[in-house]
Formats: sequence, structure tokens, C-alpha cells
Amino acid sequence: MYPPLSPFSAGLRCRCPRCGEGKLFSGLLNVRPSCPACGLDFSKIDAGDGPAVFVILILGFIVVGLALWLELKYEPPFWLHMVLWAPLILGGSIGMLRPFKATLIALQYRHKASSDIELLNE
Ligand SMILES: [Zn+2]
Repeated sequence: MYPPLSPFSAGLRCRCPRCGEGKLFSGLLNVRPSCPACGLDFSKIDAGDGPAVFVILILGFIVVGLALWLELKYEPPFWLHMVLWAPLILGGSIGMLRPFKATLIALQYRHKASSDIELLNE
């Protein structure tokens, strides 16, 4: 009925893991109750806080590295650090969280899908 879809292609485009058409998010990070295109129930496949942990670790590593480099090389005033890193952390975490969360949800759907198919065939 639905051709197999790469969890990464659905995830990076923030689309439904089953049909690849319907949008996964209703707000910035709110997962819709179901897919607007194929009706897949999203309420059971929530990635929870998993993606946030990944994003915080990766982004924290990048920002701390850049801030250290800037401090050691140019010794800028403290306000410059704030002006530079605050928007980067905010924009970066929101920008990374969406595709990250969508990919984790797609992977979760993929792995649960096999057992669901067996149930449907009974
Ligand atoms: Zn769908």
C-alpha cells in the first residue's frame, strides 16, 4: 500500500514516515495528532526528549569550541560573546531539533511497523 520510505529522507524533510507527504509538525516542534495526508496516528510515535539530548550535546560542543577559539585568539569583550552565541544556540537548536526529531520518529515508525504489519495480517 505504501512503498518503503527512507526514515532519513522523511525525517530531514519533516514529513510523515509512512507516506512522506503529510507534514509531521503543526507548530515549531509540536507533532500533529495524525498525518493530514494518509491519516497515520502520530500520537503513539513520539520521540520524547531523545532528540533534545543529541542536539544539546552536538551544539554545545560546537559553540564551546568556537567561543574558546575566539576568546584565545581575539579576547573580545564579554557582550560580544553574548551577541554571537545566543542567537547561534537558539537558532541552531531549533533548526536542528526539527529534522532530528522527525528522523527519530521515522526510525521508530520503521521499527514498529514490522510488528504492526503482522498484527494487521491476522
Ligand atoms: Zn502520512
